[in-house]
Amino acid sequence: MARGKPRQKVRKIPQRTCVGCRQVRPKKELVRIVRTPEGLVEVDPTGKRSGRGAYICPDARCLVLAMKGKRLDAALGAAVPEDVVDGLMRQISLCAEEQGLPPETAKS
Ligand SMILES: [Zn+2]
Repeated sequence: MARGKPRQKVRKIPQRTCVGCRQVRPKKELVRIVRTPEGLVEVDPTGKRSGRGAYICPDARCLVLAMKGKRLDAALGAAVPEDVVDGLMRQISLCAEEQGLPPETAKS
């Protein structure tokens, strides 16, 4: 009697949607932005901090899009102040460098 199915381990890559461009990408290609229990909005390079998170491409343009549509605010459940956004911009470009992603400034 043949029993069972061939067991193949399908590794599911966790996918997340960028709050800016709405592209679904593997989680590790995205930067997590977290609203900490203290109410601070920060980039979470580890992806492990507690708090409400949103995912975004390591691309400043996506952050701009996310802010424009208030999607980041909605995703985090909090209004993100402009000075915080400035900080996020910087951290996001740092993350992009660390991940070895090419800067996408050339494209328009
Ligand atoms: Zn994006």
